[in-house]
Amino acid sequence: MKKEISRDLLLDGIPYVLKDNISTHNIYTTASSRMLQDYLPLYDAHVVQLLKQSGACLIGKASMDELGMGSTNMTALTGPVYNPWDIRRIAGGSSGGCAAIVASGLVPFAIGSDTGDSIRRPAGFCGIVGMKPTWGRISRYGLIPYATSLDTLGAMTRSVKDMAIVLEKIAGHDQHDMTSSRVEVPQYKQCLSLDISNLKIAVIRNVYERLEDTRIKDIFKSCVSLLKKSGATIYEIDFPENYLQVLYPVYHIIANGEATSHHACLDGIKYGFQDKGKTIEELIVNTRTHGFHPHTKQRFILGALALKQENQNKMFRKAQKVRRLIVEEVQKIFRDYDIIIVPNGEGIAPLVDEAQDLSHTIVDDFLIMANLAGIPSLTLPCGFVDGMPVAIGIMGRCFDEQTVLNCAYALE
Ligand code: GLN
Repeated sequence: MKKEISRDLLLDGIPYVLKDNISTHNIYTTASSRMLQDYLPLYDAHVVQLLKQSGACLIGKASMDELGMGSTNMTALTGPVYNPWDIRRIAGGSSGGCAAIVASGLVPFAIGSDTGDSIRRPAGFCGIVGMKPTWGRISRYGLIPYATSLDTLGAMTRSVKDMAIVLEKIAGHDQHDMTSSRVEVPQYKQCLSLDISNLKIAVIRNVYERLEDTRIKDIFKSCVSLLKKSGATIYEIDFPENYLQVLYPVYHIIANGEATSHHACLDGIKYGFQDKGKTIEELIVNTRTHGFHPHTKQRFILGALALKQENQNKMFRKAQKVRRLIVEEVQKIFRDYDIIIVPNGEGIAPLVDEAQDLSHTIVDDFLIMANLAGIPSLTLPCGFVDGMPVAIGIMGRCFDEQTVLNCAYALE
């Protein structure tokens, strides 16, 4: 008699790694911070539970920028992560360890988190697929937060099909995260389709035209031609210039403001590493002074400034209002178009020595849009410049991950 196989075995026995800000029962979860270097969670994050159920095997926790703050992975307690394509270059961050491990072929997938670009930036630098789904699509239960109104868990894989398989396993409602959505999770892999002939794709002209490297611009244009050849209709549109200019400051005020509030508990008394002090105040000051990377402390200073009572209206609340206006603009685009495409960033992975001051251009900043608006966004490798991978960013409507995946599948 034939034996019934009751569950799909696509991930059974498949090894994977987790970014080290995702809680694992009795396995250190440090968020690459000295402050949490001895933290042993008492429970598994929801994604970890789901992956366990599907038979996937966790083989390690991967380095990241401290608490997820950064794009370079240079602030990790364990030092930088090198790019497998050229070890003189960075893997990017903050999910840099995950990206390097997947890109070097050690595991077929990793789970990271993305608050501004942290799955998609390193995925682009390392030539792999990275996806941040809709905010609320995946439970954040067990994720050490960076900024909860922007944080999204997501996957990093070497193909779009693998992305569809993993996403299907980790998406869905969870009673432990009241912001996780009840919107039904489609069968992403089964619904993958190369037919994109009915898609209306918006190319953001005033973003891609800013690309200074003509080689990257040419790769981007050839992706657009390929989508056109596959039957999609391409429209060139401009995003309001005044909003593009403020994307980065708006994001930083909100992200660092939220982070400052979330991490006020890391004081050596309630949680984490503890330094010495004659008084409680001195102990907290010494703990936070020595427990965090200088870059992280800068973020807390900015966050505290924005949250200070006398500044709240002119900084934090103002940033929230501008965020709303930007989101309305994105929603307007999705009334007419199904997909937005942009370059994944300005350039290839920088050299380690030059990575401390990663430049921020409007082309780089556009990825943040997906977090401000909560929309799904996928990074797809699409060419090479100087032997290093270059990628394209594909964004879709809220909860329409399928169309984003299909568009990437057609382009892959
Ligand atoms: N690079 C952005 C920052 O440093 C986003 C990081 C992230 O997505 N976690 O805030």
